[in-house]
Amino acid sequence: MKSLHGKTVLITAGPTYEKIDPVRFIGNFSTGKMGYALAECCAQQGALVKLISGPTHLNISHPNIERIDIMSGAEMHTACAQVFPQCNLAIFCAAVADYTPKNPSLTKVKRKTDELTIELVKNKDIAAEMGKLKHEGQIMIGFALETNNEIINAQGKLQKKNLDYIILNSLQDEKAGFGFDTNKVSIISSKTITPLPLMTKREVAEKIIKRVLSEW
Ligand code: C5P
Repeated sequence: MKSLHGKTVLITAGPTYEKIDPVRFIGNFSTGKMGYALAECCAQQGALVKLISGPTHLNISHPNIERIDIMSGAEMHTACAQVFPQCNLAIFCAAVADYTPKNPSLTKVKRKTDELTIELVKNKDIAAEMGKLKHEGQIMIGFALETNNEIINAQGKLQKKNLDYIILNSLQDEKAGFGFDTNKVSIISSKTITPLPLMTKREVAEKIIKRVLSEW
């Protein structure tokens, strides 16, 4: 396959916010830039894009992009479960919170005691859950941010989540990762490791899609 025309692409992007109470949350510094760059790239190449996005300041408008806004990891999971069966390609770019408060308070938590403990429970691993449902012909891509044993850990996630590719974010370059417009990644499949130089997130998106299309 050499084109995305007629294909549906699911993309998760941005952070998730896990509510502690009505005015507070646990979140992270993901901006969504990489996921939005992928959405734009896929849409311009003719795909119908379902962009399942956590809270970001980014705007995106393209007739081929349907943006589905969610807040928490649980909401992202529900949206993915609905879209995944119809998609041809799924790209899991979101920085989903690993844990969520077990019993979020319905009212604002008061400042009383010197110490406060919030009990957390694990969020579902959305990519891994979708990986269990993957059917013939579907391609799945994940992202990994590692600080040690980068390649081994990324390859482990590739296998565990039933992904076809994992994009390893390098922390070796100070202009790569959260918040920057540039990124330095390696594309890892079960057979190959392809390191790419520092480039804009849009260029990274184009390289990823070109690679997937060349092997589809
Ligand atoms: O957090 P982790 O390193 O396991 O993330 C690897 C991949 O799994 C990323 O593509 C991320 O979007 C996805 N993921 C997910 N749901 C989670 C955690 C991670 O979809 N709860």
